[in-house]
Amino acid sequence: RLQIDQLSRRYDGRLVVDDISLSVMPGQVTCLLGPSGCGKSTTLRMIAGVETQDSGTIRVDGKVICDGSARVPPEERQIGLMFQDFALFPHLSVEGNVAFGLSGTKAETRARVAELLERVGLAHYTKSFPHELSGGEQQRVALARALAPRPRIMLMDEPFSGLDNRLRDGIRDETLDILREEDAAVLLVTHEPDEAMRMADDIALMRGGRIVQQGAPYNVYNAPVDKDAVAFFSDIN
Ligand code: ATP
Ligand code: MG
Repeated sequence: RLQIDQLSRRYDGRLVVDDISLSVMPGQVTCLLGPSGCGKSTTLRMIAGVETQDSGTIRVDGKVICDGSARVPPEERQIGLMFQDFALFPHLSVEGNVAFGLSGTKAETRARVAELLERVGLAHYTKSFPHELSGGEQQRVALARALAPRPRIMLMDEPFSGLDNRLRDGIRDETLDILREEDAAVLLVTHEPDEAMRMADDIALMRGGRIVQQGAPYNVYNAPVDKDAVAFFSDIN
């Protein structure tokens, strides 16, 4: 379970993340939804540990991983990451990419890699290299790589925005199925209301560094908190 309390961050004196609190249970997807510049990625980067908060506490399964005094390094946080550019290692095969963060025996590693590549439908591409794959296929390798070490938390920053429109819905649904099976707590960043409506169990609507509304997609959509929220959701087709 991911729990963040009263997280804040300033750049050059300006509050870009302002007192954000939320929690995500295993098997659940919470969407941080909001317009460009509202502080979504900064929030995610602090949870990942590549940015430090000015104040607030981050916990994973009850354990403090970052507050004023303690700071667990990023690689020990049991957090999986996925970003818009999949950032696969170009010199490693598909298999090598997925195995990258694994530390077990050779046999364990091979079994886990095979299991995940099977699951994302890429068992035939084990020996291929990233440049030989389509965007959608690379995205699935990135998902397999992020999930390989069985992270407790998955952080995803606009992971589908580089994909072809026709592919996107299918990959969103497939990704959700896999995330649920792996039982990770997922925090998904997006600026697209329809993506949040499709994928989230819970939406945290952000604006100007703050969460202005939070709840089930149906409730957030049907009972917008103010005029700006109405306008923001009106893009949905
Ligand atoms: P987008 O949807 O465009 O990705 P976002 O919600 O992810 O936007 P952030 O990247 O979190 O927004 O940025 C929030 C604000 O903080 C922006 O105004 C941005 O310019 C500012 N900011 C982000 N990183 C830095 C930095 N390293 N130094 C100074 N300002 C920064
Ligand atoms: Mg961003």
